[in-house]
Amino acid sequence: MLPARTTVLIVGAGPSGLAAAVSLLQQGCHDVLIVDSVDGDGRLMSSRAIVLHAATLEALETIGCAESLVNMGLKKTDVELYTGDGLFMQMSFGLLDSYTRYPYGLIVSQYSTERVLEERLEEMGLKVQRPYKLVSLDDGANEGFVATFASGEKVNANYVIGADGAKSTVRKMVKVGYTDPSTKPYGGKGIQAVTGDITLKTPLPLLKEEVIVRSLRENYFISFPVPKSPWPESYDHLKDGIFRIAFFIPDGYDTPPPSPSIEYFQKHLDKLRPLDFDSKDLQPFQIDEVLWSTRFKVQAAIADKFFVRIRSPGQEDTCRVVFLVGDAAHTHPPVGGQGMNLGLRDAIGLGPVIVKHMEMCASGAQEADKIMEDYASSRRARAMNTIDFTKRTMTWLFSLESSRWFRSISWMVKLAMSIPVINRMWPWRASGLGNR
Ligand SMILES: Cc1cc2nc3c(=O)[nH]c(=O)nc-3n(C[C@H](O)[C@H](O)[C@H](O)COP(=O)(O)OP(=O)(O)OC[C@H]3O[C@@H](n4cnc5c(N)ncnc54)[C@H](O)[C@@H]3O)c2cc1C
Repeated sequence: MLPARTTVLIVGAGPSGLAAAVSLLQQGCHDVLIVDSVDGDGRLMSSRAIVLHAATLEALETIGCAESLVNMGLKKTDVELYTGDGLFMQMSFGLLDSYTRYPYGLIVSQYSTERVLEERLEEMGLKVQRPYKLVSLDDGANEGFVATFASGEKVNANYVIGADGAKSTVRKMVKVGYTDPSTKPYGGKGIQAVTGDITLKTPLPLLKEEVIVRSLRENYFISFPVPKSPWPESYDHLKDGIFRIAFFIPDGYDTPPPSPSIEYFQKHLDKLRPLDFDSKDLQPFQIDEVLWSTRFKVQAAIADKFFVRIRSPGQEDTCRVVFLVGDAAHTHPPVGGQGMNLGLRDAIGLGPVIVKHMEMCASGAQEADKIMEDYASSRRARAMNTIDFTKRTMTWLFSLESSRWFRSISWMVKLAMSIPVINRMWPWRASGLGNR
């Protein structure tokens, strides 16, 4: 049963909602309610967002969640990019070692990240309330907001954090638009993709060890080794040899099924050949098991505003504030693994801002909303940067094999990438260190 009122209501217990809750508790705000529409058993146990970057690990450290993730993840300093001619370049997060304690991409499944955050939350005394689906959010004037759930229960709240994903009900309730800020195409490709966690019949040594991006004409293929997880209920528990793979479905092909099968993956991988990366991996790529799979559309969108303040003329100025974080506020193409990372940083930074806002409101400070507005506009600027970065990266990847012009200067690109200051540029942006 839900309480009749709370100061802060967090809708959604994905990575962003959980991180916002931990951050608020850490700041001493304990009147927090976090709800999710899915019950514990229905949660996706998949890897989904599989990389934690340096800036995110630094933020997670401030809420006591980095160490256990670092202990269970794989630290990968390099991303290897192959073209048909073999290894084209190696981008190294290791070059960031003078800027961060985490000069690598930490490979860890999203399920593990969520579990670590949820355990930390429980340690601090708060449990996620499930399954509670928000169906409406109304202005309760002097009572704050009135949140109504599918169960029929109603909760009054002063602050509502919308962490309920890309289809956010909270965002719709406060009538905030969500669109792609630029209609620029991604290297001219239409953009459906499939991804899955698989095992192989014959292990391919290179895939086992490295994060690989293999550029193919009109497509590319990406592979990550998935580390064993400590959670007995998950399919990667103590299991070796799982790979996270993803590739695009070129224009003109049928829409992929919601959960692609072994046959589907194998048929497309066979068409994408040659997938051999170097002489170590010349064996055929034969899938043994598909443990989880999905299709997705590559898209970008950003909320028109991240912060909404409801004021009704002639009424007592009871606080009614909505803040959007994570996918509820922004989504981007998957390259560079930015989605969850940015959401976690939005959420971790929000805790201190809300607590400060409460203190300022309590002391009657007129400028209290300014700190929320400033935080919202700084997070929005970061999301815009990320959309731009991920679109540019996709365009660049597609041009590797499809543009004759690009191929003719590829030797120059290779040469340039051997210079550390240039090689460092992509890892710097992907790591979030310049876009915390
Ligand atoms: C299949 C798949 C593959 C992905 N792969 C990648 C990847 O490779 N790299 C990457 O960076 N990102 C990837 N992402 C995106 C990444 O998972 C998201 O960026 C991340 O999950 C965002 O976290 P979030 O907490 O903001 O939202 P979500 O994870 O979407 O969590 C939202 C939560 O809100 C709950 N909720 C929704 N509506 C309501 C409601 N009305 N009432 C109550 N609760 C509600 C949901 O149950 C959910 O638990 C992938 C996502 C999916 C689905």
